[in-house]
Amino acid sequence: MSAGKNTLDPETLVAQALGRVDGETGAVVPPMHSATTFARGDDYALIGSHIYSRDSAPTVAHAEEIVAALDGGGGARLFGSGLAAIAALLETLEPDAHVLAPQVMYYAAQDWMRRLAARGRISLDLYDQTRPETLEPLLQPGRTKLVWIETPANPTWDVVDIAATAALARSAGALLGVDSTCAPPPTTRPLELGADIVFHSATKYLNGHSDLTAGVLVASGDARLSDIHAVRNLTGGVLGGFEAWLLIRGMRTLFVRFARQSETALSIARHFEAHPRVSRVLYPGLESHPGHAVARSQMTGGFGGMLSILVDGSLEDARRVATATRVFVPATSLGGVESLIEHRRSVESPTSTVPDTLLRLSVGLESADDLIADLEQALSAA
Ligand SMILES: *Cc1c(COP(=O)(O)O)cnc(C)c1O
Repeated sequence: MSAGKNTLDPETLVAQALGRVDGETGAVVPPMHSATTFARGDDYALIGSHIYSRDSAPTVAHAEEIVAALDGGGGARLFGSGLAAIAALLETLEPDAHVLAPQVMYYAAQDWMRRLAARGRISLDLYDQTRPETLEPLLQPGRTKLVWIETPANPTWDVVDIAATAALARSAGALLGVDSTCAPPPTTRPLELGADIVFHSATKYLNGHSDLTAGVLVASGDARLSDIHAVRNLTGGVLGGFEAWLLIRGMRTLFVRFARQSETALSIARHFEAHPRVSRVLYPGLESHPGHAVARSQMTGGFGGMLSILVDGSLEDARRVATATRVFVPATSLGGVESLIEHRRSVESPTSTVPDTLLRLSVGLESADDLIADLEQALSAA
């Protein structure tokens, strides 16, 4: 052990699932607990620390401890999906709380905020998160309770300066919540940059194998965490033991997956940046990206596996490329081991501002050469 270092790196903690060798069997893989209820002993005291699985359960709690360690948070709570986690956070806000959310963000989360605003549960303003100065005039000190950012943001991969936005939110007494789904802990730890709450759709990079739906909130302090816990317990958006166990298994390879996905995405971005059939490549790792400088200081472990290419042509041309690939699978979602391609305009609402020719790529773990050759052939076939 090196002198002065008394805590292990998150990379070590997650690779070993916090180093819990099973005391009874010596198994190096944690057991999967599916019990919904937990027994009491002679004096009617609980034998362990769990009562009933809607409140808490051992495998879920283990996964939460891992996520909290990854993000450097005081604690974490898992939910049955990413959106269930965001809905729970919004539920913790006082009546008529003012919320500031980005104009461009994960569509369904914004849709839910709009519905809550339409029925007077919260009041909502949307702002341009790439320019923190547009936030300032919208802040209502004392009434603004939550400022939300998503970075890098779908599908342009705009990068938001977390520290600058945190300072503004704090000056108005608001919490800063960060959707860090596309910048998981190997590259960005928003709590260290001043955020109060970190959210991940664990369906994406944390699990990384496209085989479970989950969401997680990580909080810096205990008060907020206990509110979140109460909402989960009393409204029931829990994750099951098997999904939590799969998530633990998936997270153990998070660092190596993310590093490789970032490296391959950068090769693809560089290859197609000057391609005659591509008008633009959007990737925070490219010097040409408007968020590159912030990304360099804030995404310290790689620029991620998400990028978009704008095809030089029409909407139909772009859609043809998305169906002409043989390695990239045409499907939504992101962060898995298999590469995905998606024509975003086709899946968003009619009011979407996404360019007609934008193709969103989620880079998996296939060989970079195969992925590049696949896009080359799809671009010339379309
Ligand atoms: C997928 C996703 C969500 C929603 O998470 P689910 O697990 O699908 O409910 C929220 N934000 C971002 C950035 C996402 O990619």
